This record gives sequence, structure tokens and C-alpha cells, in this order.
Amino acid sequence: MANTLYDALFAPLAGRDKAFLILPDGREISGDAFLRMVARFAHALRGAGVEPGDRVAVQIAKSPEGLAVYAAAVAAGAIFLPLNVGYTADEIDYFLGNATPKVFLCDGTKAAALAPVAARHGAALMTLSGDGSGTFTDAAEGQPETIDPAPRGPEDLAAFLYTSGTTGRSKGAMLSHRNLLSNAQVLADYWRFTEEDVLLHALPIFHTHGLFVASNVSLLTGGAMIFLPAFSVDEVLRLMPQATAMMGVPTFYTRLLDDPRFTREVAKGMRLFTSGSAPLLAETHVAFEQRTGHRILERYGMTETNMNTSNPYDGERRAGTVGFPLPGVELKITDPETGAPLPQGEPGMIEVRGENVFQGYWQMPEKTAEELRADGFFITGDIGVMDADGYVSIVGRQKDLIITGGYNVYPKEVELVLDEQPGVLESAVIGVPHPDFGEAVFGVLVAAKGETPDEGAIQAALGGKLAKFKQPKGLAVVEALPRNTMGKVQKNILREMFADRFK
Ligand code: ATP
Ligand code: MG
Repeated sequence: MANTLYDALFAPLAGRDKAFLILPDGREISGDAFLRMVARFAHALRGAGVEPGDRVAVQIAKSPEGLAVYAAAVAAGAIFLPLNVGYTADEIDYFLGNATPKVFLCDGTKAAALAPVAARHGAALMTLSGDGSGTFTDAAEGQPETIDPAPRGPEDLAAFLYTSGTTGRSKGAMLSHRNLLSNAQVLADYWRFTEEDVLLHALPIFHTHGLFVASNVSLLTGGAMIFLPAFSVDEVLRLMPQATAMMGVPTFYTRLLDDPRFTREVAKGMRLFTSGSAPLLAETHVAFEQRTGHRILERYGMTETNMNTSNPYDGERRAGTVGFPLPGVELKITDPETGAPLPQGEPGMIEVRGENVFQGYWQMPEKTAEELRADGFFITGDIGVMDADGYVSIVGRQKDLIITGGYNVYPKEVELVLDEQPGVLESAVIGVPHPDFGEAVFGVLVAAKGETPDEGAIQAALGGKLAKFKQPKGLAVVEALPRNTMGKVQKNILREMFADRFK
């Protein structure tokens, strides 16, 4: 029976002796061995009562077994729901309540704390720890090593992936087999992945970047992955000479650049470095090229859509941009108020349509109706601008737009200037309530190590660089910017912290 995603990603591993996963201790798992594990796991899920359309939630460490649960859920026709390993029991309570999974897998060390949560929402709790052991593995022991996957078509749901919760409560994006497969096909082709590739995989696998972008592309093209449990500079430096490609978030690249052992020689065998999930500073792009000779390929995507745009493989990879709409992705920039398309060069709401765009938010019909238009365009919430050559740049999130005295200010423009000031490591610019202006531009700074930014001097320096209405009406220095577990700056928290500044 046909199962869209299983047939394209996992079935081809049958009989493949070549390494599919290479572990940091040198152990290798062949494609065939992985697929046999997937079959055992899928039988274990069925044994636990999982039927097509049921949800399988996991909060487990990254491991080959963890990846096999994803494949097993697909084989069983279930909807896979991976959760950030950093979430607390209270947070898990929300997700299990929202998604009501049939089975919930967690780390053995968390079972006691999570058992009442699972029980409250009627989920069968099983354990799977980072070393591959647990009650789930026990249940899979001795199960058949082949499986007839549940019939699933392109429109059936394959995953609920919750958004990172940067702007509010995480939402469960319903992703179909077609959504996931079409994006993997486009990316594999655009980024030239082949079975010769060895992907250095240091991303988490509970997020779209590590789970779908990285793993699906590798699976689809029959390559191998060096599967690191987490990002570590030492491990990445040690293993990079065996790899051909790496997908990362900007902090991977800044941390590598901070280490003098990261040289052109180490990166010699690599053909591709990609970056996404957060903006890559143009200076990181430049420094990386100077150090290694490689131009990082930046792309833009989100939980709800997988990837939307990418810099080109062959053409110019332009720093500070996220490149062009991917083949099959329609992208337009619209007036956030009216939805009317804006002329090229004007910043506006990024809207996208294509096979990659999700089916809606699980059990949030109103949110879905607000963001997903009847004609299929998804209102991303990101403000972007397209230049004359078609390159898209992300200006910021609509929710972070500041309207001060009737003027629109996009925080990123101000942040870029603040970041350049002496003594400033990084900054976040927010709008706070102001009696005259409605909102005032406010700059939150983090000091560079051992330095104290001179607020007066910074204010004076901004005078020559930014129009008056864009200049912060106040500055504050904090220890660190609040970030969520994906490392994204939470401006809603900063807005609360400084809400009374001008009252
Ligand atoms: P929530 O929707 O719950 O507030 P989130 O939007 O941070 O959380 P994700 O889906 O993980 O959750 O992140 C997608 C967002 O990440 C995009 O909408 C965009 O704002 C940002 N992003 C992704 N790639 C890039 C990039 N290359 N440059 C700038 N921003 C990016
Ligand atoms: Mg979002």
C-alpha cells in the first residue's frame, strides 16, 4: 500500500549496507539496519494501540533511535509530534492537552515527573532515553523487522510541529505528507544533494530545521549523516573533515569563528554550509568567507511552511539576504493593512503559497483563518523587502514593528547601528508606550565583555546615522537578552520589562 512519505524517504533504505548514520564514537548504522529498527518500532507503536491518524508525541534526546521513532510514526500512519527537550512538565502539559496523543515517549529520567501529565491527557507513557534504552525499546524487542506501512496519501497529515513560541504561545502546525516531501525534493535539488553527501548534523531533531530540512533531504538523496547529539565546537571541528555539508543556525558559525582551530584546512572537504532559523549577520558571512573561502548559503523558512527562500547554489550568495523564492513557492510582499501587493523595493508582509504551506493550526480555527488566506497564501508575520534582482531580505517581524508618532520603524535597522557602537555586544530594539508618540523606540543593549557602553556617546553617535524618529528615546543595558529554547530573542518579555519607561 502506498505511504507517500515512507515510500520516498525510508523504503529505499532496504538492503542498503552503506552507512546511513555515523555516530561520534565511530559507530555506523547502515540504511538497512536503520530500517529494520524502524519496522520494530512501528510494530511497537501499533502494539501500544496507535492507529493511522493518531498522534505520537515525543520529548526525547537526539539519537538514532529518536530519528527511527519519526520514521516509525510515519510507517504506522500516525502524526509525529516532536517536542523541545527543554520544555518543562508544565509546558508539556499544554502540548499533550492540545494534541491528545495516543502515546508519549520521554526520557527515562523524566518519566516520574511526566507520568501524571501523560495520564491527565490519556496518553500511554513509554520511555526512550538518549542511549536508546527504555520501555519503548523493550516493547520493540523481538518485533518483526519488516512492515507493511499504513496507507497514507499526500494530503494525510504526517506531523504536528509546534512553532517556537517566540511571539506567543506555540501553535501546532499541521503538516501533510505532501508538504514535507515536496519541500525535501525542492531543497535536495536546489542544494545539489546526492548519495555522495555526508551531512554534519548538529541540529536538534525536534525542530523543522534539523528534522525536516536536514534529515529529510539526506534521506531522500541516500546520503549519510554524521549524527551529533548536540552542537559542540570540538566535535564539529573533529568530524568536519569527514563531511561534505553542514546545516546550521547563525550561532554555530559565530562559535566556530571564535575558535582559531577552525581553518580553511578543516573546511577543505566541505561543499556547502547553510544557515537559517535566525538572521545571519552580514559580518559573520564576510568573516566566514575570509576564514574558509566558503560563502554561507542563507535560507528562510518556518515551522508552518518548511523552507520558502534560499540563496542560489551557483549564483551570488548575497550577505544579509535570504535569496530567492524556491521553485514552487510563490512569494509576494503586501501591505500589512490591506493585503494589496506592494511595489518592488518597499518593505511589507511576506506571504507565501505552495505545496510546502501547512494545512492550518491544530484546534485553532481562528488563528488559522487569520493567517491562512482562502486562496492559499499564508501570511507569515515576517516583514521583508525584495530588491531589483529578486533577492529577499527579512526586515523583522510584524509584531515587532514600532509605530512612533505615526512613523514605522523596523527594529533591525536600528539594531544594526547599535551593534556597531563601542562596548556593545548585541542589542534589541523595541517599542514601549509613550504619552506623546504612542510608542517610543527603545534600545536594550548587552555590553561586550569587560566593557561599559557609554549611553550618552551612543545617543550622540546615532544622530548622524538615523533619522530623528528612528533614534531610541532611551537605552538600557541588560546582562543578556531573554531567549527561548531555540535561541530566539523574546521581545515580548523586553516590552513588558520596559513598559513603564515613559509613563
Ligand atoms: P512563533 O511563531 O511561535 O512565535 P517562531 O516564529 O520563532 O515562533 P519558528 O517557526 O521556529 O517559530 O521560526 C520561524 C521564524 O524564524 C520566521 O518566521 C522568521 O521570523 C525567523 N527566521 C527563519 N529563518 C530566518 C532567516 N534566515 N533570517 C531571519 N529570520 C529567520
Ligand atoms: Mg512564527
